[in-house]
Amino acid sequence: MLNLKKIKKLSDLKWKGERVFLRLDLNVPIKGEKILDLSRIKAALPSIEYLHANGAQIIIGSHLGRPKNNKEYSLAPVAEALGNLLNKEIILIEDPLSDTAKFLLPSVKKNQIIMLENLRYIPGETKNKPDLQKVLSKYITAYVNDAFGVCHRVHSSVNDVPKHFKKKAVGFLIEKEIQSLDSILYSKKKMLLALGGSKVSDKIALIEAFIDKADTLLIGGAMAYPFLKAQGKEVGESFLEQSCVNTARKILKRFQVKNKNIILPSDHRVVSDIDNLKSLKVVTEIPSSKMAIDIGPATSMAFENALKSMDQVLWNGPFGMFETKEYSKGTMNFAKALSKSTATSFVGGGDSSSAIHQSGFADSIFHVSTGGAAFLEYIEKETLPGLEALI
Ligand code: ADP
Ligand code: MG
Repeated sequence: MLNLKKIKKLSDLKWKGERVFLRLDLNVPIKGEKILDLSRIKAALPSIEYLHANGAQIIIGSHLGRPKNNKEYSLAPVAEALGNLLNKEIILIEDPLSDTAKFLLPSVKKNQIIMLENLRYIPGETKNKPDLQKVLSKYITAYVNDAFGVCHRVHSSVNDVPKHFKKKAVGFLIEKEIQSLDSILYSKKKMLLALGGSKVSDKIALIEAFIDKADTLLIGGAMAYPFLKAQGKEVGESFLEQSCVNTARKILKRFQVKNKNIILPSDHRVVSDIDNLKSLKVVTEIPSSKMAIDIGPATSMAFENALKSMDQVLWNGPFGMFETKEYSKGTMNFAKALSKSTATSFVGGGDSSSAIHQSGFADSIFHVSTGGAAFLEYIEKETLPGLEALI
């Protein structure tokens, strides 16, 4: 378990005169030059503004996508969007391993901030090699991590670099993420775990972590099919991780032994193939030739009812192929029900966060995590490599 008390927060330290490497997660969805969702950039603003207001010079670092060469996934559109939001000029340094930032720093003005190009342009970054640390040590005096979404990675900029600095801290975003997650992990309140999505194998650890804590487990999305299969039901052509049927059977048993409630879909929206929107139908039993792509209305009702007696809800995984509007009803209905519920609600996971933002109800949720895999790994291990490096 991570002891957050051992990690310094921004407000614990003085920043005047420091030259801070600020690791952010500005890995936003981009199409061409257009940023599709600004939420990760907006989430980074409080730490930037605080450091700036307290007299530090900041050098921002982030990754973007998985570039195969140093031309793909430039941070240029991100730098522009960040500059607009901060009303400052972002100076983007083309080669993150160069000394350019070191030479520019003395002449950087108050309305300018230096940012290094995509950290994944550095060959050793994803291998936790010391290249970045060696360069930064020449001109940086402190390190701040506010990149929650990559804290599960053992990469140079989140793991190796901070080990070499004495003055280091977490930013406001990570502080909020950890406090929110801890408040549900260590809570004794009546809790509902709502699981959907497609990869049961990725979520086993999440279920394990909540077997004792959750009062009710509800399962929708493709996550439900191994469970239905384990109960001997027909799942037709639906997306099924066959290797997970046995695990699903064991989980069902463990919940039953503990006398806990499991709610599985009682009806489904099915199609004859994904592209055939016209074939969409609601059924209670999945025909062998059809695939289920969303939960049905009776299931939505049952899920909504389950929320009523709960104090806390943790939701991970959409209940259907929500990327297609026609298949997003179950997910959107639940987002709405969650926003109206009196329970304290947490939503995590990359696609789940997109879905809750798409629903328009994100503002009514107590905490929407910016981390996908980091969120899942923190729940499983109660710590992350990027956080351990700050102790
Ligand atoms: P998260 O990123 O929130 O952890 P996952 O990655 O586990 O969630 O799952 C999200 C994906 O699951 C989405 O791409 C969605 O289309 C898919 N999905 C949900 N329900 C179904 C279904 N019934 N059949 C196929 N795919 C599904
Ligand atoms: Mg996902």
